[in-house]
Amino acid sequence: MFVLERTYDPAELTRHNLHPHSVCSLCAKREMTLEAMIRRAEEAGLKTLAVTDHSDPLDEIDTYANYLMYKEQLKRIDTPVRVLIGAELSAYGIGKFGEPFEIDRALDLAAYSHTHYHLASWEHPEDRSPRGYAAHELAVLDALLATGRADHIAHPFSPNKMHFFTEEQKAATLDAISDNELGDILEKGERARCSWELHTPTVFRFPAFSRRMFLMGKEIGVHFCLGTDAHTLAAVGTEGLAERLAAVIG
Ligand SMILES: [Zn+2]
Ligand SMILES: [Zn+2]
Repeated sequence: MFVLERTYDPAELTRHNLHPHSVCSLCAKREMTLEAMIRRAEEAGLKTLAVTDHSDPLDEIDTYANYLMYKEQLKRIDTPVRVLIGAELSAYGIGKFGEPFEIDRALDLAAYSHTHYHLASWEHPEDRSPRGYAAHELAVLDALLATGRADHIAHPFSPNKMHFFTEEQKAATLDAISDNELGDILEKGERARCSWELHTPTVFRFPAFSRRMFLMGKEIGVHFCLGTDAHTLAAVGTEGLAERLAAVIG
């Protein structure tokens, strides 16, 4: 289900951060407690803060237990910020999902990553060319959206984690997606009531593709939400991002 209203306004998009990691993600700074993240969100004037800790196969993180723990903690934190306790779940292959369907549905936000190719558990395409990866990503997303599990796609088409590729090859995975394919999958997401992340590390690293996805999505009428993939308190806030985002997608 969509968690935010549809908007294409960079200023409004940056009032919500749907992709911070807390201490429950081993890669996040130890300062990322729920309360500290919320106080930082207040300071930055955010309306919505999601907690999206990793939930990958073999990571030994108990996503549902963490969800219950944070929902308990939240009862004792008074804040005007809307706090969503979700997870960055994994669609780690075509029709392969890290958590049972019931757990996805219990979360406030089932954000899905489909590009964690750096993990040992992730399925790779037989064709290991940039086009092979592009086709695999589309197939993974297609199977995911058909299940109705996902509320949100975290870093869609982000080649950031493809460490086995050069920068040029990473960019080539994006160019290898045709306009028809991109429009088709964006439409399927909208029909599945699933939003697409404007993942700021990817948007600023691959601005041409990000602009293409944004403009096409706007034409179709899809839902976009912003996420900074924060691993530090500094990155929970979105100060200064509206202008930078506008320069890419405006
Ligand atoms: Zn990720
Ligand atoms: Zn993340």
